Amino acid sequence: SLELSNVRKAYGATPVLDDVSLTMAAREFVAFLGPSGSGKSTLLRIIAGLETADAGEVRLDGRRIDTLAPGDRGVAMVFQHYALYPHMSVRENMAFGLRNAGVPRQEIAARIDEAARVLEIETQLDKKPGQLSGGQRQRVAIGRAIVKQPRLFLLDEPLSNLDAALRTRTRVELAQLRQRVDAAVIMVTHDQAEAMTLADRIVVMHDRAIQQIGAPMEIYGRPANAFVARFVGSPA
Ligand code: ATP
Ligand code: MG
Repeated sequence: SLELSNVRKAYGATPVLDDVSLTMAAREFVAFLGPSGSGKSTLLRIIAGLETADAGEVRLDGRRIDTLAPGDRGVAMVFQHYALYPHMSVRENMAFGLRNAGVPRQEIAARIDEAARVLEIETQLDKKPGQLSGGQRQRVAIGRAIVKQPRLFLLDEPLSNLDAALRTRTRVELAQLRQRVDAAVIMVTHDQAEAMTLADRIVVMHDRAIQQIGAPMEIYGRPANAFVARFVGSPA
């Protein structure tokens, strides 16, 4: 399980997160909704241990994330802007973290083939990221997370660049993912229908804070305040 308690973060004099607390169960799928600049990506980076909070703590299965080596965290993140290594092929991008973690060659190849099949990028494996479309790059970034077989997926708008058909297929794939790999998922999205269909719970962020946490029906049916009601378009 994931536990955030009183996480606080500022960039210089600008506060970005104030006292954010959240507890997630092991296989839960949580969607983060909120306006641009509300701190969603910052919170994901803190959970991934890529940035440190100014106060508060993040625990994964009881252990503080900042005390774990990156390879031991069991967390895989898909970044909003992919962050693929431009000089490496797609296959090398996907293999990189696994090789560092000491996964055997054959196992790496098998995981990559499986993820590439699911994401329909089999024919792109030997290309460089610069030779791919935005949607293909996005799928490589998702594939790179999947092959790590993490306990926690952090997905920052992972479907925003995909066309409608591929989006639907990838959405189904993500929904099945945690059953297959026994992982929890946090997904940032601007698509409320996506949050509604995929998530066990939705977290609405605004003004550096969590405005409401609840099941989709709860958020829409009983918004905690005027902001949430307006943001999710609940009937007044
Ligand atoms: P979006 O929906 O546009 O992706 P977001 O909710 O992910 O927005 P963040 O990227 O977390 O928002 O940014 C939150 C705030 O922190 C913004 O005001 C942003 O300008 C600021 N910020 C983010 N990263 C940095 C940084 N490295 N240095 C300074 N300020 C930053
Ligand atoms: Mg963001």
